[in-house]
Amino acid sequence: MGLKVLLVATHNGQSLDEQVHHSVTAVRSLTSVFDVAVTGHHIDPIIAEASRIDGAQKVFVVTDLLLDKQLAEPVTQALSPLVALYDLVVFSSNTTTKNILPRLAAVHKISPITDVCEILSKRSFKRPIYAGNIIETVSTKQPKVLISIRAASYQRTPLLDQASGKIVHKACAALRKYAEYKKSIILKQDRPDLAAAKIVISGGRGLGSAADFKLVYRLADQLNAAVGASRAAVDAGFVSNDYQVGQTGKIIAPSVYVAVGISGAIQHMAGMKDSRIIVAINNDEDAPIFTVCDYGLVGDLFTVVPKMISHIKKRKK
Ligand SMILES: Cc1cc2nc3c(=O)[nH]c(=O)nc-3n(C[C@H](O)[C@H](O)[C@H](O)COP(=O)(O)OP(=O)(O)OC[C@H]3O[C@@H](n4cnc5c(N)ncnc54)[C@H](O)[C@@H]3O)c2cc1C
Repeated sequence: MGLKVLLVATHNGQSLDEQVHHSVTAVRSLTSVFDVAVTGHHIDPIIAEASRIDGAQKVFVVTDLLLDKQLAEPVTQALSPLVALYDLVVFSSNTTTKNILPRLAAVHKISPITDVCEILSKRSFKRPIYAGNIIETVSTKQPKVLISIRAASYQRTPLLDQASGKIVHKACAALRKYAEYKKSIILKQDRPDLAAAKIVISGGRGLGSAADFKLVYRLADQLNAAVGASRAAVDAGFVSNDYQVGQTGKIIAPSVYVAVGISGAIQHMAGMKDSRIIVAINNDEDAPIFTVCDYGLVGDLFTVVPKMISHIKKRKK
């Protein structure tokens, strides 16, 4: 019998997580057909999306009031019987799955392989270590394999126009309530989400102050881009830490990444070096960021960026 692969599709209650679409590409590099699992409560739009995943044969749906907020404990209980039926179970690497995957692995007494950036075979995977400076190859002999995919390493597979996956509702045993949902605090933003944006403009310590960091927003506004930052900019209080890109921040791979006044420390580059096109603006021609960029502008950002903004404005007219 062929390899049995299950893709666990996480969501935010309204739509599938962006990373899921990238994990589909990863799974399709191994097999053209696979099953999908979704859990939640009142998730009809998500089920509809999941059934349009290219390659999805069956979409297993587990619904329960306790699954409403995707708490790790009930989701683990709901997924565990399904996981038992598959050779390879694939998650997207995100904050939700980082909570669920280790629990599921423990239940099944296996070691998960996280942040996979390349699937070599059903038992062999590449993943970054040491802040992305070394890519290790991990092979496993475990009968069942649980992995998470680093979305930045794979392009997005668009959903099909029409549903192809057969929806199968799965009953689950009574879920035990180990944890209780209290509240979520979600920051509202007018700009694109940093993790999913096609264009990201990031600012570093070179901006000098929170007031001058506004230059980054002005450039981002012209390009409908998300705003990111280096840790130095976050630590200096120019922006809050949810903007941080890097080893201890967000790992992203937009089509265009513009680094403004960022030196290019390895910890920063761990979060953006998979970007399709990297543009660097820095007044130090020896800054390490110039070793990874596609376009480098050596100059004072306070001169270069306003010129870029006015040039873009003119082009728009
Ligand atoms: C465990 C650990 C984890 C870390 N995680 C992260 C992480 O996730 N993300 C992250 O970013 N960092 C991280 N860091 C910090 C990292 O090592 C660097 O300190 C940080 O990235 C530097 O930020 P920066 O490039 O903005 O600042 P700097 O290194 O100070 O660079 C500022 C740059 O701005 C340029 N500049 C100054 N003025 C101008 C001007 N007028 N015009 C043009 N250019 C100008 C300078 O030439 C310089 O290159 C981590 C460090 C550690 C130890």
